[in-house]
Amino acid sequence: MKIGILGGGQLARMLALAGHPLGLQCISLEPAAEACAAQVGSVIAGDFTDEDLLADFAAGIDVVTTEVEHVPLVALDYLQQHRRLAPGRRSIAVAQDRLLEKTLFHDLELPTAHFVPVDSLEDLVAAMQVVGLPAILKTRRMGYDGKGQVVLREASAAEAAWSAVAGAPCLLEAMVPFDREVSVIAVRSQEGECRFWPLTENLHHNGILSVSRALLEEPLQALAEQHCQRLLEALDYVGVLALELFQVGDKLLANEYAPRVHNSGHWTIEGAVTSQFENHLRAVAGLPLGATDARCAAAMVNFVGHVPAASAVLAVADAHLHVYGKQPRPGRKVGHATLCAAHPGLLEPGLKTLVHLAQGGREGDAIA
Ligand code: AMP
Repeated sequence: MKIGILGGGQLARMLALAGHPLGLQCISLEPAAEACAAQVGSVIAGDFTDEDLLADFAAGIDVVTTEVEHVPLVALDYLQQHRRLAPGRRSIAVAQDRLLEKTLFHDLELPTAHFVPVDSLEDLVAAMQVVGLPAILKTRRMGYDGKGQVVLREASAAEAAWSAVAGAPCLLEAMVPFDREVSVIAVRSQEGECRFWPLTENLHHNGILSVSRALLEEPLQALAEQHCQRLLEALDYVGVLALELFQVGDKLLANEYAPRVHNSGHWTIEGAVTSQFENHLRAVAGLPLGATDARCAAAMVNFVGHVPAASAVLAVADAHLHVYGKQPRPGRKVGHATLCAAHPGLLEPGLKTLVHLAQGGREGDAIA
């Protein structure tokens, strides 16, 4: 079976690698000149809106999935006339627009931060009265990794914030005093079976995910699964989805979802019975889902801007290195390492070393 993937970055690359043993071939469509999925699978280079190219792409595949959420909807409109989309168009369209996304959460009675749509400076001033301060102004579209966001701490900052978003349609969200950020990665089959990996705690650095830790025996697991299942069913979702949540005490507030495999699920390659990549392909291809249980305690460290020396990473016991084959650039995710251990307490020393290496430290340096 041939799986078409919109996008040819590291997520497509890891999907292609997971597909090989199953006899599933991945073919990506990627507009950017550099596509690291090309090192392990097939990539067609070109624009998502080029109909001739989309026709060639559709002719060579059985089903279409995506590794990016910001795909032009016209591409999905075209492709769905010719091939099955998994996940479907609505699952991707809603995730592209923070207002549609938060409204869906609200309709499904998933708790969220208080939010108000903002389309003008006057709206923003009024919204600040409703939501209170501090608050975050977020553009409805093209926001990820903290992009398109302005934090407002004082009413006098409204004008500067509005000009910072250049008048784009926005929403204003109350700042959540969260205890921690977690995500639940789930998979839903074509028959509607849902499975969930253990919740993951996520730490960010400069707005980019830096460390994810699988939370084994987490009391909030059942609540996260309930929230996520409601979303999967409402979207009639097929494939892997990540729901990002803020934990406040014993509550979970939904922040956003990604209609694809997710960076906070990379630990599942070594840390779970079936990885998010394999289960996404199984769901999309109509195969039985694999178990999502953790095999061990696991954590992941992202390598952003540079990949540390392999010799240093692999000197850490039970560390597993993934290099994406991308040109290193500041702020760019170029690899990650997963660390496994028999129980969570045993992860700490190795994790400290991997974070130190990720931050540019060298093997043998004193670790702060
Ligand atoms: P997002 O692009 O919505 O995932 O936001 C990026 C990051 O900004 C999140 O991972 C949080 O650390 C922070 N953030 C976003 N929205 C809120 C909020 N309403 N309250 C507190 N922090 C937030």
